[in-house]
Amino acid sequence: MLLELLFMMLFDIFHQTMKSFALHEINNSVPMWLFDDPLALSLLKFISVPPKSSKNREIYSSAFVTTEGKILSIARNMQILKNEGWKIRQGYANHAEMMAYCVADLVTPGNIQGYIYVIGFISENEIFIHKKKTIGDDIKSERFTCTLCAKKVCEHQINGIAIPTAMGWKKLEAKNALATAQSFHNEVENGNNNSRKNESLNFSNESVIKLVNHLKKTNPKKLIQLLEKNFELNQTVVKIIKAANDGYVSTKNYKKIVLK
Ligand SMILES: [Zn+2]
Repeated sequence: MLLELLFMMLFDIFHQTMKSFALHEINNSVPMWLFDDPLALSLLKFISVPPKSSKNREIYSSAFVTTEGKILSIARNMQILKNEGWKIRQGYANHAEMMAYCVADLVTPGNIQGYIYVIGFISENEIFIHKKKTIGDDIKSERFTCTLCAKKVCEHQINGIAIPTAMGWKKLEAKNALATAQSFHNEVENGNNNSRKNESLNFSNESVIKLVNHLKKTNPKKLIQLLEKNFELNQTVVKIIKAANDGYVSTKNYKKIVLK
């Protein structure tokens, strides 16, 4: 009887330890869906090995996906020149979201309906996965963080933005993307939040390295096959994914592909 009780106690301790270990693992690991989602993989592979000059800088990748499920573009934030023919120019460089929109507009001019998917690295080994915002006991939804892009999304009547969360892609309608970005922006202005890092889930370095290694091993042809199961792709998108095999496409090369 005593032995049985002791055994039960030991089993319970073992069980609790395993449970907290598993929770710890979950909390510190990059979400598993990222390893299987062909769109996330295509976007991340494209920026997984930034040039040396960009180390520790934020870098994002973006796709314009129509409401019919056609991927019109894959882009990243990059420097652009005045007379290159982009629909929107935010300054000396465009954010990934607006590059995706500009390229989509070049490929399919006119009124395009769809969502801009965006994902990226906050620094070399930190991936930006939006976390739920908690204010007191009130758990709010994940927020978009860029008012500049959100305003353009509303202005050009794009349906919205899709952001990566712990559970997968989350679509924010244009108005909501702007409202959440404004709430983020106001906090920054008031000094309550100093960076996007506070808006992101925290992952262990090992787990981000694991994802980056997975990206390295992911073959572009395989990625294209996986994407084609869910989306229609144009030749520009196929070319970009193939060119991103080494984890980065230079601005010069990128423009050569999309501007032809
Ligand atoms: Zn932006």
